[in-house]
Amino acid sequence: MTEFQRALRGEITPVLKKVADDEHMEPGRLRRLVAEGRAVITGTAREHCRAIGIGSGLKTKVNANIGTSPAHDSMDVELEKLRVSIDAGADTVMDLSTGGDLDAIRRAICAKSTSPLGTVPVYQTIVETVRSGREVPDAQTDAMFEVVERHARDGVDFLTIHCGLVRRLAEAVAATRTAGVVSRGGCFLLQWMIANKRENPYYEHYDRLLDIAEKYDVALSLGDGLRPGAIADATDAAQMGELLVIGELVDRARARGVSVIVEGPGHVPLQDIPSHMIMQKRITKGAPFYVLGPLVTDVAPGYDHITSAIGGAVAAWYGADFLCYVTPAEHLRLPSIEDVREGVIAARIAAHAGDIAKGLDGASDWDLEVSRARAELDWELALSKSIDPETARGMFDPIAGDSEKLCSMCGIYCAIRGTRKTRNGRKRQG
Ligand code: SF4
Repeated sequence: MTEFQRALRGEITPVLKKVADDEHMEPGRLRRLVAEGRAVITGTAREHCRAIGIGSGLKTKVNANIGTSPAHDSMDVELEKLRVSIDAGADTVMDLSTGGDLDAIRRAICAKSTSPLGTVPVYQTIVETVRSGREVPDAQTDAMFEVVERHARDGVDFLTIHCGLVRRLAEAVAATRTAGVVSRGGCFLLQWMIANKRENPYYEHYDRLLDIAEKYDVALSLGDGLRPGAIADATDAAQMGELLVIGELVDRARARGVSVIVEGPGHVPLQDIPSHMIMQKRITKGAPFYVLGPLVTDVAPGYDHITSAIGGAVAAWYGADFLCYVTPAEHLRLPSIEDVREGVIAARIAAHAGDIAKGLDGASDWDLEVSRARAELDWELALSKSIDPETARGMFDPIAGDSEKLCSMCGIYCAIRGTRKTRNGRKRQG
């Protein structure tokens, strides 16, 4: 039985109780959110994994994508990225490998990850098809589902499946967009449908997916194969068409007691993000919403951890529950280990800013603690409580004041010290 089905029966399981405690939420409230499909609990498949909740009323979570490519296929490097991601505070990790021994890499990541793990099984289906000397459209429907089950059996916690990208949308979009289809999984399926003149197998046989998800209690992350990859393509008919299909698939999953997350864009201009989040939540009846970015401009390769953090903060403010990080390497190369670390930190800043704006209980307590330490010139506390203490400590350039350390920005003209002196003098006078 899935966590969702247990919640529907009114059960508060030990894992739900633990997640509620972590979120400082009353367990009965979390059970209701799970039973309504507005929150999912993931990370229950492996004993060494910390289960988390994603959805309404919960802290905004951050995902880090790792995984090999055909050009860089070192398992050791990806395992180091896993370690760095989790150390930097990623709540979940996705293995998007397309190079090397895909089963071995996924199983090694499963064995080591203490965070919930996601994958995109269609990648492996296509890689195995191509490696056997055939082309993308030659992929067999049974092979697609066999790989989905292989991942679920290995202990993957959530599976991104692009089942809302139906054939009529694929045919319409190929000719109309500025940046075309930028989702790798979406593009594989688009090629497959157009060449074979057949419907998306994940859509056509959606009940097979639900059978697997229910059997292994994995969450389905309904991928947005038509997410915009350019500002000019944001909120176009194709993207909205896919969202409407996904809305129907959410209902069917809930009717089976299968947890679903819904994925979203992509490149979206800043002013469109609020309406986009509200619309997405409405169409999917409050399903947990997982966004890639959104990136608010197309012109900043090398800095897309920043463009996405701007969009991610606004998205979280208006209801996104789960931010997929974007690294400085986006659009340019497979992320390095340092890119991964920077991407996680940028996304965590966005998630936390979003939680403050959402008014989540206690979200700004952390800020208050850092601010108070800063106001006291208590550098050790202020640095150790910062989101990235290692970087903050590395940058700190202290100079000696009369009784405390000051930083080299203003030195003896330190405004904080001046305020403290004035405040303390007033206290003495009083
Ligand atoms: S020296 Fe300037 S920048 Fe540094 S803590 Fe004081 S006021 Fe802030």
